[in-house]
Amino acid sequence: MGMYIIPAGLSFKERARRANVFPITLGPHGSNFDDVISALEPFMKRLDRGQEVTLQGGEKVLLCAFTMAYLGDMPQQQENAGMKSQRAKLGCRNCFIDNESRGDLFYDTFRNGRYHHQTLAMREVMNACITQAARERYATRWGLNLAAPSLIKISPALDLIMSRPGDPAHSEYLGLSRMMHSLLLDAILTTKGCQSYAETLRSFPFPPNWPHVQGPLRHLKSYSLSEHARWSLLQSLLQQAADSLTENPRRRRSLSRESQPTGTTQSQRTQGPRPGVEHTVDVPKESAAKAVLYLSDIKKPNMHTALHYPQLAEEYAMPSNCNVLVGEDKHRFFKKVIYQTNHQKVEREPLSRRTYGKPFDYYYSTPSPIAILRPTAT
Ligand SMILES: [Zn+2]
Repeated sequence: MGMYIIPAGLSFKERARRANVFPITLGPHGSNFDDVISALEPFMKRLDRGQEVTLQGGEKVLLCAFTMAYLGDMPQQQENAGMKSQRAKLGCRNCFIDNESRGDLFYDTFRNGRYHHQTLAMREVMNACITQAARERYATRWGLNLAAPSLIKISPALDLIMSRPGDPAHSEYLGLSRMMHSLLLDAILTTKGCQSYAETLRSFPFPPNWPHVQGPLRHLKSYSLSEHARWSLLQSLLQQAADSLTENPRRRRSLSRESQPTGTTQSQRTQGPRPGVEHTVDVPKESAAKAVLYLSDIKKPNMHTALHYPQLAEEYAMPSNCNVLVGEDKHRFFKKVIYQTNHQKVEREPLSRRTYGKPFDYYYSTPSPIAILRPTAT
């Protein structure tokens, strides 16, 4: 577990640089998140409130380094907002949709949304329950965690809902892009079309500095998040490039079947399907099973969370401003560094080996909050 600072005042390009992600602390694997936050509480709270500091020239200024938002993947953000996991019955921290209706893409997220003061009031009602069983019943019914979110300790003034934005990188690339890619191979293209598509993808000229993606026919399930991202940006160009993909006999067959549903009269055929009239289409069992699978995918939390991106965009402009990729990249770097240590002080050693991040200097062990953001001579 790691906790990092990304200065919000930087441009998008600068924020995406690993050197501009500053570690606050690395928690040991399996450590209790609440304990880590409790350790950070004394100086993080003072920074949030504002602290008078003396600059090198002797000038005194009020330094107020407050937190604007917390970034994280979906399970972490659910915990940060004090909600149950995304797999719970009410598993959305932004609204009250339940797991059965999660596929409803027209759900009114404004009228049924969760809001900061409402959530605090619900938590008070839950805590007022006399017995533990009653508190658990209430928490389960409304998707709340029994314990209050730990981050309230270090940033009590932040909005519990809006300051925990969703991560579009995971939901869009690992969710929507992966599903579209699977759908293309499973249901849209024929076997011959799949092979033609794979050949086109293999020879497609990727932009400079873009690694090629793996062959999708064999390796789609092991695609990394960045491979899904690159594919999602290129797939429309790919379709234009591959003339052979337009030849899809199976699709033509399915379209002709749809236009002549069994059990309907000629007049109904010309008018097309009508509401309330059931049409039967002969579909192989395997395809029917896949169709059910894809229809159930719409209920996945990664799909539902996209309904909240307009609200997110109003607060933070592009939703991609809230992606966690650069933070995860920095964390991966520290994990690699650990293998180069003697495994004695696995949290402190990686931080002491940090040789970049020139604009600021950070000392891990100092108790003074002033040292957290100290301008250096360089
Ligand atoms: Zn929701």
